[in-house]
Amino acid sequence: MSFLNLDHLQKSFGSTKVVHDFNLNVEKGEFVSFLGPSGCGKTTVLRMVAGFEEPSVGRILIDGQDVTRLRPNQRQIGMVFQAYALFPNLTVADNVGFGLKVAGVPRAERAGRVTEMLELIGLPEMGARFPWQLSGGQQQRVALARALAPRPRVLLLDEPLSALDAKIRVSLRNQIREIQQQLGITTIFVTHDQEEALSISDRIVVMHKGIADQTGTPRQIYNQPATDFVAGFVGTLN
Ligand code: ATP
Repeated sequence: MSFLNLDHLQKSFGSTKVVHDFNLNVEKGEFVSFLGPSGCGKTTVLRMVAGFEEPSVGRILIDGQDVTRLRPNQRQIGMVFQAYALFPNLTVADNVGFGLKVAGVPRAERAGRVTEMLELIGLPEMGARFPWQLSGGQQQRVALARALAPRPRVLLLDEPLSALDAKIRVSLRNQIREIQQQLGITTIFVTHDQEEALSISDRIVVMHKGIADQTGTPRQIYNQPATDFVAGFVGTLN
């Protein structure tokens, strides 16, 4: 059995169905991207995995445990949002340590873990700063450290690069991938950027109108698009 199972997920808001029968198995340590245009349901699937939305139909299993009805803080999931989600009135170190405090990790252990995380993201000297004293890219690295500090089972990244300028986007996506591989953490990455998904994923799920049109390696998606939509969407770069 795979580490993360999304089993026949559906989601409706009122009478509008935005996710139709979504199925995905993710292996431990795998990096999977959800790729698709605005409104195709990527974020809604991610929010169901995180526990912020309840599926109308279907189940979510992590490491064999059915988490479908668990609250977000019971799922051992880390999440990074688009941007500017740090606590502005807390230092970088306190931002990174926040989840550990909530989880009841003792102070001495927290300090060690925060130092370790700041080293992991390459900002070992920045613990005493406040978010407004950091660049956008540095803030997103701190958000990543904050998400990883409690050692989650799954990392969810919702367009974490989209507010950054192009040059920083490329270097940060490579850094995210390196850290992800170093920790071996199972990751889902949401993006509408084909090049981003093709460059860093083990597998890509191309989504279209609430459906997974194709799931495959970047090479399969690029060379053997399964539908006209995938061909058009992935091919627009070329
Ligand atoms: P984007 O990149 O723009 O966020 P997305 O692919 O992540 O797009 P979703 O945010 O999952 O798409 O939205 C899918 C559809 O569901 C959209 O049509 C959206 O308007 C609708 N939707 C999302 N959340 C809600 C909600 N809470 N209530 C009603 N409709 C919603």
